[in-house]
Amino acid sequence: MNLILMGLPGAGKGTQAEKIVDKYHIPHISTGDMFRAAIADETELGLKAKSFMDAGELVPDEITNGIVKERLAQPDTKVGFLLDGFPRTLAQAEALDQILNELGKKLDAVIDIEVAENVLVERLSGRFICKTCGATYHKLFNPPKVAGTCDRCGGHEFYQREDDKPETVRTRLKVNIKNSEPILAYYKSQGLLHEIDGDRKIDDVFKEVDQIIAK
Ligand code: ADP
Ligand code: AMP
Repeated sequence: MNLILMGLPGAGKGTQAEKIVDKYHIPHISTGDMFRAAIADETELGLKAKSFMDAGELVPDEITNGIVKERLAQPDTKVGFLLDGFPRTLAQAEALDQILNELGKKLDAVIDIEVAENVLVERLSGRFICKTCGATYHKLFNPPKVAGTCDRCGGHEFYQREDDKPETVRTRLKVNIKNSEPILAYYKSQGLLHEIDGDRKIDDVFKEVDQIIAK
């Protein structure tokens, strides 16, 4: 099963990805996570990506396409994959088609999680993440069951993303709104697009995601 999760920053891609991965055991490929890991490891890739990420801008296509191509060539994607945060430009969507073609793979579905902009700002400003396992929480909408303890791994350390501060959030939303329309039209024309309402409870959103995958 080869899937793409789309949606503006804060739509709930990472949150739904956790649930999909738990149920279907396919690798979760998040370009944002890959860039953050490269920055933490102080690699050349991290160095190249950092200034764009800090500004809320997109990392250039040639860099991003390159890491996705490498990742999709890994043997664990034989059982399928879940792309999260890629493609984010039409050029990336076209590059992805070529990559998949070369690897003899095909997309099964593109799920777009739709949430209004004012809700996204609220979600991003309250987001925090487990340092140990990367699970995503929200101060008000999705706190851990036991305060200060990660539901998934029992970790006690959390962080807020540097690019979730209000100034950067505004740029990120603008950049992503501008770029997403042509990608959605591209996948719609191929009959792959499923648009779902993401402004509901996390479990209700997952029910619909799950129904689409099961089909
Ligand atoms: P994305 O990966 O699309 O940027 P996240 O999954 O990180 O989005 O979610 C952004 C924030 O919103 C997180 O704090 C998360 O806990 C919260 N969140 C995710 N889905 C929902 C939902 N359906 N309702 C309320 N809050 C949500
Ligand atoms: P995310 O974790 O998906 O919110 O991504 C965080 C940041 O990583 C984005 O604001 C971009 O700077 C960068 N990034 C992630 N995915 C892509 C992509 N597909 N193309 C370009 N930049 C990306």
